[in-house]
Amino acid sequence: MIAEVIVDIAASETDRIYDYLCDDHTIVGSRVRAPFGGKTVAGFVMRLKDRSDYPEEKLKKVLPCPDELPALNSECLALAEKLTARYRVPKALALRLFLPTEMRTGKVRELMRNYAALTVPIEEVILPKTAKNQRGAAEYLATNGKTDCARLNELFQGGVSGLEKKGYVTITKEQILRDPYKGLETESATRVLTSDQSRAVQTIREDSRTVQLLHGVTGSGKTEIYLTLIAECLKQGKSSIFLVPEISLTPQMLSQLRARFGKNAAILHSGLSAGERFDEWWRLRTGEAKIAIGARSAVFAPLENIGVIIIDEEHDSSYFSETAPRYNTFDVALLRAKRNGCKLVLGSATPSVETYKRAKEGEFSLIRLDKRINQKPLPEILIADMRREVRRGNNSAFSGALKEEIEKCLAADKQAILFLNRRGYSQTVVCKECGYVAKCEACDVSLTYHRDEDCLKCHYCGAKYGMLSACPECGGKKLSYAGTGTQRIVSELQKLYPTARILRMDNDTTSGKEGHYKILKAFAEKKADILVGTQMIAKGHDFPSVTLVGILDADMSLHFSDYRSGERTFQLITQVAGRSGRADEKGRVVLQTFDPENDVLRYAIGYDYEGFYENEISLRAAMAFPPFSKIVRVLVTGEDDQKTIEALREVYFALEKLYTDNPDKFLFFNKMRAPIKRIQNKHRYQVLMRLSDTSVLPEIYAACAQARNRDALVSVEENPTNLS
Ligand code: ADP
Ligand code: ZN
Repeated sequence: MIAEVIVDIAASETDRIYDYLCDDHTIVGSRVRAPFGGKTVAGFVMRLKDRSDYPEEKLKKVLPCPDELPALNSECLALAEKLTARYRVPKALALRLFLPTEMRTGKVRELMRNYAALTVPIEEVILPKTAKNQRGAAEYLATNGKTDCARLNELFQGGVSGLEKKGYVTITKEQILRDPYKGLETESATRVLTSDQSRAVQTIREDSRTVQLLHGVTGSGKTEIYLTLIAECLKQGKSSIFLVPEISLTPQMLSQLRARFGKNAAILHSGLSAGERFDEWWRLRTGEAKIAIGARSAVFAPLENIGVIIIDEEHDSSYFSETAPRYNTFDVALLRAKRNGCKLVLGSATPSVETYKRAKEGEFSLIRLDKRINQKPLPEILIADMRREVRRGNNSAFSGALKEEIEKCLAADKQAILFLNRRGYSQTVVCKECGYVAKCEACDVSLTYHRDEDCLKCHYCGAKYGMLSACPECGGKKLSYAGTGTQRIVSELQKLYPTARILRMDNDTTSGKEGHYKILKAFAEKKADILVGTQMIAKGHDFPSVTLVGILDADMSLHFSDYRSGERTFQLITQVAGRSGRADEKGRVVLQTFDPENDVLRYAIGYDYEGFYENEISLRAAMAFPPFSKIVRVLVTGEDDQKTIEALREVYFALEKLYTDNPDKFLFFNKMRAPIKRIQNKHRYQVLMRLSDTSVLPEIYAACAQARNRDALVSVEENPTNLS
């Protein structure tokens, strides 16, 4: 038998199918060890056939791997082919998405372990006095029952093998599945759905459209709807995929899922060790677990017969992959939903403008949940005008209003969350006196300060402006482009409230497997009064004692030099505000801003998504930004500047030809240096395009695949979230 094999080397030179001899039991999708260029590498069987075009005596033989099932099922193979074609990446790269790393490198081979158990009652174990370790091991087994031999050997070196020789102990090999959430306590399970929730479930069941958008305010009980849908699938023997932003996989969420679904759920997330991930993955592959829960990569879970796919917080930017292939989770989920004939449920309090547009136009079903479960109103949002604070001589990070609320909150023994939005902060120029922000004249997005050239640049058209010495609106000299870190906020707070217990959560404090769980857990257990954090604390946490949320710098994401900054700001404010007043107590939000008249802020404080959307979509239409166009960036990077430029030249000529042949399909086309010229010693160049018609997209990918070489990486980004 001949196997067509893809070797797991992600280079374009090896990106083809190789013929190998294989034994007759080989199955399509299975993993093999393939001799390749003097080494043995992992490979995957794509197809089987009787004969090869190569002379058989020249073919090498693959060795099978002892997996109980082929690693890739037919759906995964088909999907991998589609992704390869769509994103023009080497096949091995597309296949990798479907496999845990450990599967490919073969590093985790620890799955089988030896267990020892006594064969006779302890009284019948007769040992010489000197055999201390044997005696110890035997007694340990008598008290603890069957035990991992490795553990016994740690405690009583050599004891087990002595006992085994005498026939007092049998040793069996067993597969151990590491359980990453052993310690998590469980809480109560099912709830009776409210009528709004039942109506939503009913619609999702009955509506004929594949994509169902659940637009529900924070606290409207979307999670319970998802769980109901999953439970229903489970009853019918079907599997489900439940995707959440990584950051939402909180201990609360995990224990809720465990309580509800037990071992039927496999939770894949980055906090797991390699071994744990591998085990969870196999449990899904074998069908032992039928529910895959995780961040974006769980969309590739090795499941069959899928009954529902859910994407919670569908607007979250983590659903876009930032490494090749740069897939959008929604696109992959849609392919799988269509293939399985199941629903794709999107949920959000603040859907992305693009998704909402498609729902309003009837392509997706739109289900609204306007009320919170507990009927409590959404927290009231107060605006603190920071320009006034500066004029009054208050240069601290806290407005008078916020300080007053913090004091009240502490006095009532409640908790507060203070949110600091650091992204893009240090790059935008804001006048501290009037709130003026430097913007591009052509693009209406804010400019980014470039220290190296001491100038301001637009990331969408490359326009350059001189750095300002004073505010063009009010003449003020207090221009700010330096950020305040969470650390400084904490020390300022500590000075103001010496007895308050303060926790900080940002990228610096959340390293390690359980970094952010620990912080959130401590806060949930009321071991602190105030939690200070970045974006990370904005997502779905449910802290009943939180009655105050402070947004320290609401403008900063507004002025991020991105066409989506309005959308991001609206989402952030809504999400963060949703953290306040979840339980019985009424919640409050203080929003600090230098720009209180801003439209986005006004819609956000009124929780007016519809108003925000109408305003935003007309702006997008006027400026021809997505969803009315597609922004495509081709990024060329490499360590050797000369070789990188060569690759750039090649791709640029191909793209320029495409552009001159199809001028009507482009709104914008330009080659320039990337705004950040070097990152990690790699030179960066880009060709930036805005397409009015995406039919040229496959040709753009093709041109990039062509120009890619050993020394330069050429990648395509569609509507990139970051244009630096
Ligand atoms: P969302 O995901 O829409 O923000 P959640 O699913 O977190 O909302 O629900 C908000 C709160 O309401 C949670 O504390 C949840 O446990 C509770 N809840 C949800 N559905 C019900 C229900 N049917 N009965 C009682 N409580 C519910
Ligand atoms: Zn511009």
